[in-house]
Amino acid sequence: MIRKVLATTIFMMLATILFACQQDDVELGSGQTAHSADLELQPKGHIVIHEQEDPNQTDPNGQEEDSQKPETDENEAITVSDPDAIDVIVNKERKLPDGYEPPDLIQPNVDFHATNEERKYMREEAAHALEELFQAASEEGHDLVAISGYRSYGTQEAVFAMHVSNNGREYAEQYSAVPGHSEHQTGLAMDISTESLGYSLTEDLSDTAEGQWVAEHGHEYGFIIRYPEGKSHITGYNYEPWHLRYFGDNLATAIYESGLTVEEYFGMVE
Ligand SMILES: [Zn+2]
Repeated sequence: MIRKVLATTIFMMLATILFACQQDDVELGSGQTAHSADLELQPKGHIVIHEQEDPNQTDPNGQEEDSQKPETDENEAITVSDPDAIDVIVNKERKLPDGYEPPDLIQPNVDFHATNEERKYMREEAAHALEELFQAASEEGHDLVAISGYRSYGTQEAVFAMHVSNNGREYAEQYSAVPGHSEHQTGLAMDISTESLGYSLTEDLSDTAEGQWVAEHGHEYGFIIRYPEGKSHITGYNYEPWHLRYFGDNLATAIYESGLTVEEYFGMVE
């Protein structure tokens, strides 16, 4: 059933270049760590960013340097040995095995404002935890909305291929995600927003009562904010208060209480 959904999704993406697609690991130029896991990139090359960043501020020289040597070098990336583990760590240096699909994707029973069906899926354990998180938030008067969860290897691959076809490989490597490096592909991440923010993925979430509640209580339900503020030099991503990652309540609470990034907590940085 999921395969059918995925096949339909990929067909639709290839069938029309009018279809806006979501990216990971968008490079904004050499020397910058201005990455977002959740940028939307339209086929003509116009980046729709839900944050305050301006992609036009890139350094042309830096871009050229970047295109010669993409930051994520497939040859040097570590392939994780335990992709099904709830504590699997995927980042710019660590990737999922080629073609990896999570084993137990389901749709959580929560409010969605998703652009396609595939993004409504999560790993079963994470999906049920998300239902509990949203229910608890609702009881406190905070209405959360799920935006984007699972993103398949095939989707990322198709998107990357489309950019190569439309804009050339150099462009594709600068602006499109390399499949396997997106945390969304694990089925353990969900981007959230609220109606008051127009369902956009924005740092403004941290100024809302909903965003503050999630930041304080998410770990009780197994979720942490994976890309904290001021830690882009470690995580490789700017602050993303909307990107929740499931680790289970014990581990999420330990990470939360440590005040560390995931990379620091697991000793992956010096
Ligand atoms: Zn995300």
